[in-house]
Amino acid sequence: MRGETPILAPTSVLVKPAGPDCNLRCGYCFYRGKKDLFPAGSHRMPPLVLEQLVQQHLSQSAREVSFCWQGGEPTLMGLPFFERVVALEAQYGRGHVVGNALQTNAMLLDKPWAAFLKKYEFLVGVSLDGDAQVHDANRRDAGNDGSWSKVVENIKMLLDAGVATNVLAVVTQDSAGLAEETYHRLQELGLRHMQFIPIVQPDPATPDGVTRHTVRPEAYGTFLCQLFDRWMLDLEGPRRTSVRAFDALLAHYLGLEPPECTMQATCSSYLVVEHNGAVYPCDFFVDQQWELGNLTTTHLARLWRSPRRREFGALKAVLPGQCRDCRWLSVCHGGCPKDRLFGDTPRASYLCDGYRAFFNYAHDRLARLAAEERAPGAAATGGDPMVRQPATSLSPTPKVGRNAPCACGSNLKYKRCCGNR
Ligand code: SF4
Ligand code: SF4
Repeated sequence: MRGETPILAPTSVLVKPAGPDCNLRCGYCFYRGKKDLFPAGSHRMPPLVLEQLVQQHLSQSAREVSFCWQGGEPTLMGLPFFERVVALEAQYGRGHVVGNALQTNAMLLDKPWAAFLKKYEFLVGVSLDGDAQVHDANRRDAGNDGSWSKVVENIKMLLDAGVATNVLAVVTQDSAGLAEETYHRLQELGLRHMQFIPIVQPDPATPDGVTRHTVRPEAYGTFLCQLFDRWMLDLEGPRRTSVRAFDALLAHYLGLEPPECTMQATCSSYLVVEHNGAVYPCDFFVDQQWELGNLTTTHLARLWRSPRRREFGALKAVLPGQCRDCRWLSVCHGGCPKDRLFGDTPRASYLCDGYRAFFNYAHDRLARLAAEERAPGAAATGGDPMVRQPATSLSPTPKVGRNAPCACGSNLKYKRCCGNR
């Protein structure tokens, strides 16, 4: 593969250096079962695979590229692995601005980790579902002990160390009724960047075909409406909070491409790289059917251009009539294909009723907000500087015009994104 010319490639890779291995046993985890894809035992990315990954990802011509380290639990690799990561990025970056994001359960973090994450400007996403009762209902360790206390302790440590920290909260049927409480609880901890992920998991053994964790469409719609009200109230003022889905929606209303794959027309924003170098088109489709190849034998960019990857990307646009005729298609795009359960024929998202209720509820205010944003001299209120961060700068930060697209890849204007810190 030496001498491969820089070619069209994804600017973002989601890497699973410890495969599906994890130190927690979360009740709703969808990734633990992926261990069946790999030989038994522990799963760790070998040094050679890491070097090939970094070298290939940084051989592209795009200036801003990002690595999202995820799992399983990526901190199982230990700090020396990540020290090697940034050394390789410095070695192979050729004027690139490299962003690193770490999605973690935070259980293994300590002060040396925090100092490292701060020094190299990692964006850290911590999984925390709300208060202790909600969080510990599902996020327990191998001894069946809850993880909330340790996670909160380590979030405070990260914030004290000045690490850019956001929170990823899972929404289950049980927690969907607690939108306001969860939002306030996370705010109280000092978290101002939030992402909420609805659980949707099929289970043919149950009467309604989904697991007990699965958030029902009506409950999810109500959750979004209540959360949206809180987000709107805080838009001006010291408690301004970024909720990723709403920031992405506002980007849509501003005529920009939302930086959220579920709101895009196709599934073509990143690749997943497993610990052994196997490459897949999406985190939710790590399976034999969608294994594109292995970067140890085929360059990442070539896998990105492969017919199979493009076939996957286009599948999202194969929609049922219900979506094609829908008023909200241009913003919803039928939602994430993983939520179109039950069979091979195109089905609307399991969450469709919730989406429609929410879009109807929020439309007027989002349209008004976008009009205010566009008005000359408008104060910046939107934007999510944590969507993707221009983290480890391997070259001097360029001068960016206030109205130019932000270099972090959020698709927002610089003045509404990283220029608004
Ligand atoms: S399948 Fe869902 S999560 Fe995966 S790329 Fe498509 S929209 Fe995103
Ligand atoms: S709201 Fe429902 S019908 Fe409309 S595009 Fe989304 S999933 Fe399809």
